[in-house]
Amino acid sequence: MELLHKRILQDGKCFEGGILKVDSFINHQMDPTLMKSIAVEFVRRFAGTNVNKIMTIEASGIAPAIMTGYLLNLPVVFAKKKKPSTMDNMLHTQIHSFTKDRTYDVVISNDFLLPTDNVLFVDDFLAYGNAALGVIDLIKQSGANLVGMGFIIEKAFQEGRKMIEEHGVRVESLAIIEDLSNCTISIQK
Ligand code: 5GP
Repeated sequence: MELLHKRILQDGKCFEGGILKVDSFINHQMDPTLMKSIAVEFVRRFAGTNVNKIMTIEASGIAPAIMTGYLLNLPVVFAKKKKPSTMDNMLHTQIHSFTKDRTYDVVISNDFLLPTDNVLFVDDFLAYGNAALGVIDLIKQSGANLVGMGFIIEKAFQEGRKMIEEHGVRVESLAIIEDLSNCTISIQK
């Protein structure tokens, strides 16, 4: 996605340990026009599938997910990183965060993830794939069908795609970062 590639090269910043900071347009301040274009591209790539629900995980997945849900006129549900005291019927998994170096609990109500659902999962980053594996676990527990996973940015050198594809799940990433070493952002053409 040319527009996104240009923006990453223009405003993205790399940090030690293979971290790409895009907080001026995705992770902190957000660019709604770019976010809409991102959602249009997700809709294009998953056209012809039978998706009836968009799923994401808080917090940075919510913006692209809601834009995608809006365009498709579909409900959007997000997995929560803290269990609300009012949530009864919930599915639970654990995810290890490489950026924060900790393991956290993730929950989702099984009122909003049903065995009849065909789910498209949307998130900001695919790195080692731990968040994605947690999501695959939640979806498996719910009995829903996972149609595919769409990421704004994939860091190919951290190999999360391999883990997801081993579960037979389709992956679409709008920008694939091949390398961040020497603080040079290299994006797959
Ligand atoms: P994974 O579980 O695939 O290793 O990492 C997924 C999550 O970690 C993403 O949803 C994102 O929140 C965070 N993350 C991983 N790598 C990066 C990165 O380079 N930059 C930013 N901003 N977030 C990242």
